[in-house]
Amino acid sequence: MEEVEKCEECGKILKDKSYAPYCKQCDEKLDKQFDSIEDNILIYKELLDNEIKVLEKFEDTDIKGLFKRVYEKLSREEGGLKKESIVVLNKLKNAFNLKESELGIGKLPELKRVKKSKQKNKCPECNRKIKQDFNLCPYCGYRLKDDFVSKF
Ligand SMILES: [Zn+2]
Ligand SMILES: [Zn+2]
Repeated sequence: MEEVEKCEECGKILKDKSYAPYCKQCDEKLDKQFDSIEDNILIYKELLDNEIKVLEKFEDTDIKGLFKRVYEKLSREEGGLKKESIVVLNKLKNAFNLKESELGIGKLPELKRVKKSKQKNKCPECNRKIKQDFNLCPYCGYRLKDDFVSKF
């Protein structure tokens, strides 16, 4: 009996095996998804659970390459690695059981989420009522959002 290989993604029989285990279309589609996930990490510092599922279809070396690229780029941001960057890097690291030693990087702080401003409508410094979207307290000048300088 002849063995037929099917695309792991769409089930189509693979005639051209150069893209195995996927067909050419699925391979290209996955590559595009991979790129947009990389952008999402870099720009929005976000890695969604369904994106992790997509990444699971890739090889270990692809994931490590991705991690190293985003780590380097995020480290080069003004002021170094930001909290949000560390959170998203940790998410990627933990989802794929990556080790800092294998990645050639220093230990990442165990930061799983960034604290949101604690009291939304009150200044934590002077306790006066203020608007939620203020960056600085208009009464005492307390900086309410520590990331507002970097916001675009
Ligand atoms: Zn396919
Ligand atoms: Zn205040």
